[in-house]
Amino acid sequence: MSQTQSPPTPDYEVIVIGAGVAGIYQIKRLADLGVNATVLEAAGGLGGTWYNNRYPGARFDSESYTYGYSFSKELLEEWHWKEAFSGQPENLRYLNHVGDKFDLHKYMQFNCRVDAAHWDEDQNFWRLSVSDGRTLTCRFVIMALGLLSIPTLPRLEGMADFKGRSFHTFDWPHEPVDLSDKKVAIIGTGATAIQVIGEIADKVGELTVFQRRPNWCAPLNNYDVDDAEMDRIRKRYDEIFETCLRTPGGFEHEPDRRGFFEVPREERIAMWDRLYEEPGFGIWLQNFREIFTDEDANAEFSEYIADRIRQRVEDPETAEKLIPRDHGFGVQRVPLETNYLEAYNRPNVHLVDLNDGPLERVTETGLRTTNADYDFDVIIYATGFDAMTGAHDRIDIRGVGGERLRDKWRERISTCLGVFIHGYPNLLMPNGPQSGSASTNYPRGIETGVDWCMDFLEHLWAHGYDRAEVTAAEAERWTKHVEQMYEVMLMRKAKSWFTGYNSNVEGHEEGTIRYLVYNGGMPKYRKALNDVAEAGYKGITFSNSADSIAEKIA
Ligand code: NAP
Repeated sequence: MSQTQSPPTPDYEVIVIGAGVAGIYQIKRLADLGVNATVLEAAGGLGGTWYNNRYPGARFDSESYTYGYSFSKELLEEWHWKEAFSGQPENLRYLNHVGDKFDLHKYMQFNCRVDAAHWDEDQNFWRLSVSDGRTLTCRFVIMALGLLSIPTLPRLEGMADFKGRSFHTFDWPHEPVDLSDKKVAIIGTGATAIQVIGEIADKVGELTVFQRRPNWCAPLNNYDVDDAEMDRIRKRYDEIFETCLRTPGGFEHEPDRRGFFEVPREERIAMWDRLYEEPGFGIWLQNFREIFTDEDANAEFSEYIADRIRQRVEDPETAEKLIPRDHGFGVQRVPLETNYLEAYNRPNVHLVDLNDGPLERVTETGLRTTNADYDFDVIIYATGFDAMTGAHDRIDIRGVGGERLRDKWRERISTCLGVFIHGYPNLLMPNGPQSGSASTNYPRGIETGVDWCMDFLEHLWAHGYDRAEVTAAEAERWTKHVEQMYEVMLMRKAKSWFTGYNSNVEGHEEGTIRYLVYNGGMPKYRKALNDVAEAGYKGITFSNSADSIAEKIA
């Protein structure tokens, strides 16, 4: 006869890491069930991307009304988006409003960076080390870390010597920065830089753009949303979200399913002319599907956009420098812009093509390329992010047997559905690498991921399980599928964060694809999630630690 012994109870049933768009909805769902849960957030407030990225011009390039949460009719009814593509201050106000409305702040602990998360196989829970010195335990850990939350700086000598002000766009100071009459440098021409340049070109003394590779972009065509327009949007919300569920990108934009070469060229041009003038991602996502997969179709459309650049940029030499030659339109994330190309028509804006002479170092007074020295008061680094895996890599995550996630993923990124990792029990990622969220209108992906994780947790709780782990075979199945999806996409050839490229991070330079993103689109991703759930969570092994302890000592 033996006595059964209760396993120790962890501090929390669930700890969510990150209070961004995903973490906010995740804690809302947990709070609704009365689960003992908390959110640990490194920043000083909620909002994630919209808390941190305070650079001028930061705004949605999803339509505001497709970006907001869909889970609460009341929230949808009461919130008035002021612009079709809302700016960062308003976006942060919205997320704080959500936090206040559902009383979520009380579950959140700010300025708490999680440094380590170790799986304790004996106790069957996670042990988290927090930057304030505490160790917290939890049965389940939910990684809501954000796709683009680890900014990366160039690896240039002399950065600390610069006597002026310098910052990455992600770390843009919270207080206003006076750029008027200043000589400003910006490094990078990604989606972030394109927003900043369009916004500040007419507000600074001199602006010099250091461009390594030009980026295709298209007009945002933003507009104000008045009361009448907001009323129309409110009436359409059901339809809007239904459409977002149906389309690959989670937007209202549906791809044109006619064959590219079956549509006469004049008709193609007329369609592109129309889409170029319309708001948002239509020019990318309402286009023919061959844009993404067929070299000839892509080349023809890219030439169309190149002509648009030539029309909008007055100096022909500058226009040619702004046209990408190493990749076609839409195979990288397309930045949407306001006044970006026109900025180069201003006498105070200068383009330095780093192909003529790369950056050599930062000096006390500015930047040095192999061709010249430039003096600046301010240097803006719009140099991108250690995308998707970066935020996981910054935490010392160790699973079964002490395996370090960072090491596992250095070899090959591998997940199941972007939600589970083999060898890391009770760790969930509602919007992780290889999930459908990254390649979609992000909040639409987030709601799908969080809802699915909640169903999964409720299944566990209902059955009295407290340990769940994906099998190696199921993780392999999904990872292979994700890798195969890249094969048909032209994007596999592009140097962008979609392929895990970042010249500023060791091991992420050109040469190897890192399979970060599920490219099958939202409907297929949701089907994959549902198939696993409907098959009784096929490929996930469940157990109960009280039973196994009883077995061990029986
Ligand atoms: P990014 O697309 O990675 O662009 C970084 C830029 O910096 C590139 O032009 C890159 O050049 C350049 N760069 C990096 N290191 C450099 C170096 N050492 N020397 C010279 N140039 C260097 O980063 P991002 O613009 O921050 O955008 C990242 C993602 O954030 C976007 O794709 C998008 O998903 C998201 N975003 C969203 C919004 C929105 O929703 N409204 C707005 C902004 C950003 P190379 O191309 O040569 O590497």
